[in-house]
Formats: sequence, C-alpha cells, structure tokens
Amino acid sequence: MTIGPLHVLLVDDNPDDRALVRRVLGHEYPDFHVREITGAPGLDQALAEGGFDLVITDYQIRWTDGLAVLRAVKKRWPHCPVIMFTATGSEEVAVAAMKADLDDYIIKSPDHIDRLVVAINVALNKALQQRALLEAELRYRGLFDGVPVGLYQTTPEGQILDANQALLQMLGYQDLDALRVHNVLNLCVHPEGLQRLQDKMLRQGGKTNGFVAQLRRHDGDIIWVEVSSRVVNDVTGRVLYHEGAIQDITERRHAEARIHHLAHHDDLTGLPNRVMFKQRLEHAIVEAERRGRVLAVLLLDIDRFKTINDTLGHGVGDGLIQLVAERLRICMREVDTVSRLAGDEFAVIVPDLAHAEDAARVAQKILDSFAYSFRVGEYELFMSASIGIALFPLDGATPETLLKNVDTAMYHAKEQGRSAYQFYAAAMNAKAFERLALENALRHALERNEFLLHYQPQVDLESGNVIGMEALIRWRHPELGMISPLQFIPIAEDTGMISPIGEWVLRTACLQNKEWQDQGLPPVRMAVNLSARQLRQSNFIYTVAQILQETGLEPRYLELELTETMLMQNAETAITTLNAMDAMGIDISIDDFGTGYSSLGYLKRLPINTLKIDRSFVSDIPADHDDAAIAMAIISMAHNLGIRVVAEGVETAEQRAFLVEHHCDAMQGYYFSRPLPADEAARLLVSSLAG
Ligand code: C2E
Ligand code: MG
Ligand code: MG
Repeated sequence: MTIGPLHVLLVDDNPDDRALVRRVLGHEYPDFHVREITGAPGLDQALAEGGFDLVITDYQIRWTDGLAVLRAVKKRWPHCPVIMFTATGSEEVAVAAMKADLDDYIIKSPDHIDRLVVAINVALNKALQQRALLEAELRYRGLFDGVPVGLYQTTPEGQILDANQALLQMLGYQDLDALRVHNVLNLCVHPEGLQRLQDKMLRQGGKTNGFVAQLRRHDGDIIWVEVSSRVVNDVTGRVLYHEGAIQDITERRHAEARIHHLAHHDDLTGLPNRVMFKQRLEHAIVEAERRGRVLAVLLLDIDRFKTINDTLGHGVGDGLIQLVAERLRICMREVDTVSRLAGDEFAVIVPDLAHAEDAARVAQKILDSFAYSFRVGEYELFMSASIGIALFPLDGATPETLLKNVDTAMYHAKEQGRSAYQFYAAAMNAKAFERLALENALRHALERNEFLLHYQPQVDLESGNVIGMEALIRWRHPELGMISPLQFIPIAEDTGMISPIGEWVLRTACLQNKEWQDQGLPPVRMAVNLSARQLRQSNFIYTVAQILQETGLEPRYLELELTETMLMQNAETAITTLNAMDAMGIDISIDDFGTGYSSLGYLKRLPINTLKIDRSFVSDIPADHDDAAIAMAIISMAHNLGIRVVAEGVETAEQRAFLVEHHCDAMQGYYFSRPLPADEAARLLVSSLAG
C-alpha cells in the first residue's frame, strides 16, 4: 500500500513483541524496514531524522511510556500515524491516547494479531491520502507563490481571500494579512471601472481577459495593471470565489506614452505636430458643430525666415522657432491648440468663438506680440509674421478643407506685405476690419468725451404726467457720426469696456437727475440700463452706492433696468445684488419683458418694481390679437404680483388707448416723445410742470 519500502519505527522493550510485529509486517508487506527504538536518545535521533511511515509503540516502556512517545511523534510529525500495541493499557490510557491523535489502540494478545494488520493498513492508507493532499497543496502553493504574475482570490463581493507573493510585492504589502483587510474596490483608482469589469465578466460566462485598470499601492503610488479573471463555481454551480491574474504594465504604459508623445509632438518646440493637430481639429469641429459655435484655424508663417536661416545658420533659425513657439503659447488660452506644422509654419485652433470677427482679434494679438524683438544668442532679431484665418463652418467643414483654405488665406496675408492677417472669405476681412476699428475707437471714446445721454420720458397713462426718464447712451463717433448702442454695446460687453462705460452712464444720469431737481423741476425717476457684466461684478453695488452719495441723488429716484436673460444667466449673484439694491431703496425693472423665458415663480421671489412690456408686443396692438392678449396677460399678471407695468415703443394713439383701457400704468415711446438731449428733456419737464 505504500510507495517503496515501508519504514516503521518500533518502540518496545520486549524482543518477543518486536519479533511478533516484524512477523506481522513481513506477512503483509514484502518490502519493509523496521527501526527498533530501545532508549530515549534513539527516539530523539529517529524523530530528528524522520523518514518513517508509521510508529508502533508499546504503552509500558522502561525508559518512558507510550503516551509520551505518541506526543513526541505527533509534535514533530503530525501526519505520521501512530498505533499503540500494548498488553498493559487501561481505558483511561486509551482515551488519553485517542485525544492525542492516536490512530489505533490494539491489545497485545494472539487473538488481536489480525486487528493489528487491519489497523496498520487503515492508518497507512489514511496517512497516504493526507500526504498526497498535503503534497498537492505544497506543490500548488509553490507554484502560486513562485510565478512572477500576481494571483488572487476574492469573494464575489471583492473581499480579498488570498494573494501570492508576486501580487504582495506588486502592491507593496509585507504580508497577506495586511492586504486582506482590503476590498479590491479600495485598491482601484477608478472603482466604477472594476464594477463594469465584473458585470462584463458575468455576462461573458464568468471570464474576462486583458482588462486594464489602475491600482493604488500601499505606498500610494499608482500602477497600471492588466487583469484576467474568472468566477469559480463549486460542483453544484454555486459561486465559490473569483480568481485571477494581475500583471504590472506600468512600464509598458509609460513607454507607450513616450512613444505616443514622440509621434505626436514636434522635437524642437514640444508643440503638437501635424498628426496631433489634425486629431484636435477633428475633435474641435465635432464640438463646435454640436454647440453651434464658430471655430477658427489660424496659420502663421514667419516673414523672411529663410533669410535668417540662410545668413545666420540653422542654429539661430531653430532658436528663433523656439522663441516664436513660446510667444504663441503665451498669447493663446489653455483651450486653444498651438502646433508646429512644418519649418516656420505654426497653426492654431481657436474653438468656441462668439463672433467670427473675434478671430481677427486673436490674430492681431499674435502680430502685436512680434513687436518685441527675439533674442537668439548674440542676435537681436526683429521679426514679423503673416496669418491666414479660416472659419468653421463658413470656410469648410473638414480638417482638410480648412487647412487648404487657411493656407490660401495665409498667402493672401503675405501678399499684403509683412505683419498682416487675412480671412479666407474676403467679406470677413471687411467685417472684421469694421469691428476692430470700432473696437479701437471705442477704447478711446470715454476719454475723448464722445458719449452722451439722451433721455426718453415715461408718461403716466392715467394722469398724462411725466413720471420718469430712461437714460439711453449715444456715441458720437468723430467720423462715423452717431452710432447706435445696439451696435457698440455688444462690443463693449465682449471687451469688458462696458464696466467703465456703464459707470459713466450711471454717474451722468444721476447727476443730471439731481441737477433737474435742484433747478426745481418736478422730481422723476431716472431709469438706467445695466449690462450682464455689470451685474456680475462683485463690487457693483458699492459703485452704485458711491455714485448716489457723490451726486446726492436719493435712491428712490433711481431705477435700474435689467433684462430677463441677464437675470436667468446669473441667477445666483443676481438675487443677492437685487436684494441689496432693494434694501438701498432703488427701484428695479425688467426690460424687454416677454422676449426671454422668465418663470413667473422666479420673478415672484425677486424684489421687482416694474415690468416693461417689450416693444415687439406693443407695435401691433390692438390689431394683432395674439400680441394684444399677451400684453393684457402681462398687465394683469404683474398687477397681481403688485408690479407696475410700462409699455415700451408706443407709437400711436390706438396703442395708447388700448393700454389705457387695460390699465397699463405708464408708457414710453415715440408717440409721446423720442429720446431727447438733456436740455430738450428738461424743457419737456418744465412744460409738464406747467400742464
Ligand atoms: P431699451 O433699454 O429697450 O431701450 C429702448 C429702445 O427703444 C431705445 O433704443 C429707444 O430709442 C427705442 N425706442 C423708444 N421708443 C420707441 C418707439 O416708439 N419706437 C421705436 N421703434 N423705438 C423706440 P436705443 O436708444 O437705440 O437703445 C437700444 C438698446 O441699447 C436699449 O434698449 C438698451 O438695451 C441698450 N442701451 C441703451 N443705453 C444703454 C446703456 O447706457 N447701457 C446699457 N447697458 N445698455 C444701453
Ligand atoms: Mg431699457
Ligand atoms: Mg426695452
């Protein structure tokens, strides 16, 4: 029943009994070897050496007893079977021995020889099975811990059950216990990814291969790993655990990233190269299309770069390219892509433009940055560049057409002479020029005193008295004459110039109103239009307070006009600012009402005094029934909320009659008066006093 010769340790003082055991063994096992132990040193040595398959011991032994032998054997060789073969034992001895893991207990008597044979067979069989199991386990453990791949077992919930040496090392843990406190999810940098993996695994019949994830090591470092895992079921199909292999691919990822960077960037400047530029452009086009925005591609070519290269050498040329790259990087925003396409050619993607003309501003900014010289080694170089501009969607819908057209535009810029930009679409050049010229002129308009205010009276519909004035800004351009606020306010908003301009309007209007009051004219409310940007300014409310104090105008004679859209876009700050204004005693009115999408519930929560029905609803009443209905609805709704209603753009007697009939509070419009210069507005106030 055993492999090779059977080795037996025999502990017995009696030579006859020893001979008996030998006989029994010889009968059953053709090849056996008995080591007879007759003293304590012999036992110690045998135990130290090992290599026996079975121990047969007497109970009563001169130099010890069978229980002590049993314990000594089991302590050193727990899997070795021990049989007690004795004539002198008792029941107590037998029980104590069985508790100490004795395999069998046989009374020495001729009748029991058969039983000894059976006991030996059973004990050896059991030991053999155990040994096979143990050895398999050892072999498995050796393999488990020896492979250079991380291996693990977890519960289906992710609790770690087992991990091999390679995995412990990979994750930086000393021993399994330190790792076992974790759920796999704790180790994952993106646990949701693991969740997806598990779902996928279950869908695929319990297996996945090559799932890439990031794990957090014990020391906090992040590593990239590739995981293959499977679900292990028992024979009844119940899930026992999950197991898998993990490979550290951090090095590989880094190498890949380096290769990717090399393939997508320009060596000299570190900027994205043509390959990457095209990818970014494709992506930007998709985004612009989705959001309905304009996108510009700028192509810059350094003027006379060839001369530098030819006369000063390539080293200087390269240095110059690097400096230009640096300057472009500084000029552009984070979201713009600056790349070097070839030689001295740079391309820029400017996504998300509000107006196509803004691309010209960007180009101008780049050209302006060339105003400073470039210092390369001992040379100070004065350079300029030519820029072509192509727009999506106007000039092309694909990267290829945009690149082709921007190239054409750049050549047109070159033809213009140095330091110029050109749009691909010729019409854009004029438009951009006009806008930029306007923008430049606007920059000086304040200091050159080119702004003035006109005032349009608001009339009480019941009494016919002038109860208010709206200040409307005018720009008297030295060459172009009067320019409508509709034309320049948006530019002022875009460039931030609206803040000083708006402040000027506010101060001038307050000053004017105070002056009229000081002259003894009937006091009226002065309405001033605000822009979204002013409302967003955190210190706006202080500016207002300061101006009121400076001019001495009482807050109740000031009304600030905001549009619905402005309120909706800045809901959070708007509420705070509006409440502060209300607390100061300033009136607030909603301009152009009906054109936005304010919710009534929202308006109700705001301290609003006046709604101004937009001109578009007034112009066709009473003939247009829809408009008439809307106007009536606005009036009654506002009155229900305790809000005053002013109709804008009243031009005819019919419109006025309709508004009177439906209890609108006041009107403003050409029917009564156009916006007037200050002196004429004052005269109107005088006559209203007389009337
Ligand atoms: P708004 O605040 O709705 O001003 C009313 C506009 O309607 C004024 O145009 C006024 O001249 C015009 N209007 C008044 N009555 C009639 C009428 O019976 N018929 C017609 N067809 N039009 C009439 P304006 O002065 O050109 O101003 C246009 C817009 O520019 C203003 O609309 C306002 O939104 C803005 N604005 C004017 N001044 C300022 C200012 O100082 N600051 C800011 N942020 N915006 C201003
Ligand atoms: Mg207004
Ligand atoms: Mg209006």
